[in-house]
Amino acid sequence: MALSLFHMPISKLQGVGPQKAEELHALGISTVGALIEYYPFRYEDYRIRELSEAKDGEKITVQGTIASLPVVQRYGGKSRLSCRVTIGATLVTAVWFNRPFLKDQLVVGREITLTGKWDQRRKYMTVADSEFPDRGTLKTGTLQPVYSVGGNVTQTLIRKLIDKALTQYADSIPELLPDDLLRRHGLMSRAEAISIIHRPENTKAGQEARRRMVYEEFFLFQLRLQAYRALHTKKTDGIPHAVDNADIREFVDRLPFELTDSQKQVVNEILHDMKQPFAMNRLLQGDVGAGKTVVAAIGLYATIKAGHQGALMVPTEILAEQHVRSLSRIFEPYGMQVGLLTGSLSDRKRRDVIASLQMGLLDIVVGTHALIQEDVFFRSLGLVVTDEQHRFGVNQRSILRRKGLNPDVLSMTATPIPRTLAITVFGDLDVSTIRERPKGRKPIKTYSVKHDMMDRVLGFIRKEAQQGRQTFFICPLIEESEKLDVQNAIDLHAQLSQSLPELAVGLLHGRMTAAEKEATMGAFAAGDTDVLVSTTVIEVGVDVPNATLMIVMDADRFGLSQLHQLRGRVGRGEHQSYCILIADPKSENGQERMRAMTDTDDGFEISRRDLEIRGPGEFFGTKQSGMPEFRLASLIEDFDALELARDDAAQLTALPEFWSSAVYAGLREYLARDANSREEPLD
Ligand code: ADP
Ligand code: MG
Repeated sequence: MALSLFHMPISKLQGVGPQKAEELHALGISTVGALIEYYPFRYEDYRIRELSEAKDGEKITVQGTIASLPVVQRYGGKSRLSCRVTIGATLVTAVWFNRPFLKDQLVVGREITLTGKWDQRRKYMTVADSEFPDRGTLKTGTLQPVYSVGGNVTQTLIRKLIDKALTQYADSIPELLPDDLLRRHGLMSRAEAISIIHRPENTKAGQEARRRMVYEEFFLFQLRLQAYRALHTKKTDGIPHAVDNADIREFVDRLPFELTDSQKQVVNEILHDMKQPFAMNRLLQGDVGAGKTVVAAIGLYATIKAGHQGALMVPTEILAEQHVRSLSRIFEPYGMQVGLLTGSLSDRKRRDVIASLQMGLLDIVVGTHALIQEDVFFRSLGLVVTDEQHRFGVNQRSILRRKGLNPDVLSMTATPIPRTLAITVFGDLDVSTIRERPKGRKPIKTYSVKHDMMDRVLGFIRKEAQQGRQTFFICPLIEESEKLDVQNAIDLHAQLSQSLPELAVGLLHGRMTAAEKEATMGAFAAGDTDVLVSTTVIEVGVDVPNATLMIVMDADRFGLSQLHQLRGRVGRGEHQSYCILIADPKSENGQERMRAMTDTDDGFEISRRDLEIRGPGEFFGTKQSGMPEFRLASLIEDFDALELARDDAAQLTALPEFWSSAVYAGLREYLARDANSREEPLD
């Protein structure tokens, strides 16, 4: 039955010809099943209320009695029909525009319901809809669903079609959830819930119907993740790394600093996984500056010692080069070779790196998406690390993974998702979190200032430079006009060079060649430049511990997480660091973000606020990160339901009966269908 509605072309519905079918297709509705699950995004309230409850300017439905003869005025091609209506104890003027034909129906003494905008002072209602109870009503007393429509598909049409589909097929909507879950959570049937969502009798019923469907969305989503986990993660087809603890300890002892307790803990979690015969799939999250790179380095060391190779994929060339520099420093004493693979290598160099990888001459390769090109092979890929994982799509990661035989995968992110949300959403990922920053780091002092404070900002830069410290000065990136941004940076660079003649001012932007970028970054990292004017090409990962001042121009144009990332470029050494956000005080939403930035430098708190301000769709960058989009459920508001669904799904998939009993055949069928429709599940 489930299949039948979803396989029944929309044109099978009475009243849908080829023309309409095509227009419905454009809205993504091609089957009767899809039409039935095309939910309204809000309701118009036609329930009758007392006039005294209405606020001025509000849209309201009221019932009354016609109290005067109607009057029609015509002007231009238009008309205005008005009459008096007694509503309760109030005499109201009701006005219809361009509906002169109603005149004959407005008979004194007749009952009427009016829906429209209420003007309290003038006792005046601009009528949008009216009905006569003696003729039976359609909308009055109901919540009318409002659908997202377009083209020639109107609200009226889609309401009519959905109504028709429900009348004819509601009984064929199959139940998906097992009985015991429905009973345990007091949920109504699927057929009932869907019908009510389209035509709720009252708010309470509507809410109950929504609760049922939200739970279902989350449950099915979690079931997919948990089932995948139950079936795959315990599969022993990964690489059981032979890790010698004493050897690792020695490697760690020779690092230039002592690991924080948090780092030690996540290293243990990672090495534990790497020893297992199943493939690791772990998310490592830690605030900017928490020290994720060194954790990755330890994992890479372990894979090399076990006879394999490691790959580190990063989102930008600048970051790739930085990692090659720092990893080479760590690995060269051990005779381990680190290579670089980016899009701007010459053909010859590129072929060289690829051949070396294939022959096993390189132990580690650091690169951008150039790593996932078809002709890149490894002798034996043991560990894949992605830095700033939110920058990569699911596919890019899985392509890299497939370059080995089930290598272990470690995804690092500095956009920490509140932990509960991470576990719940990435149900099939294990999560490790670095909670503390290295000792001795002072919180970054953050200020938000107006543009007219530039003189004092310049003074600040001078003061830091006198103490041997360095400054980042960031210009915004506006997607629509990359040219303009670069111009911004170029102008600002010229301006600063002039205002600060005693300082060396560098310039970095995306239009420079890779070699130019590398030279500029190299000079800044070496301390040869005092100030680096840059677009957001340095947003992620860049590590220059001597830089203590981050200035962001037009900061209100940046998102919260991005600002936090930018700020994370300073505060990486023992010196007190500062972040100055130059923002327009009139930017409303902007001020909210500036406040969050000056209130806290805790990345988890920042993400929480970001999630609040932007909502999860934008926050996770849904399309990019492989995050699911739910039709009704909201990751924030319905969080409790998400946790409930996760627990239920985990319990259910752990039961042997789930995989055999006829009771769960429907769910298993759903999973099989789902697996066919996607190449690989979320990772
Ligand atoms: P992120 O987590 O943002 O990628 P990095 O790995 O770049 O952070 O580390 C930030 C800085 O802190 C680097 O300069 C790194 O060498 C240093 N660092 C990392 N771990 C420690 C530690 N345990 N003690 C002192 N400094 C550390
Ligand atoms: Mg990093």
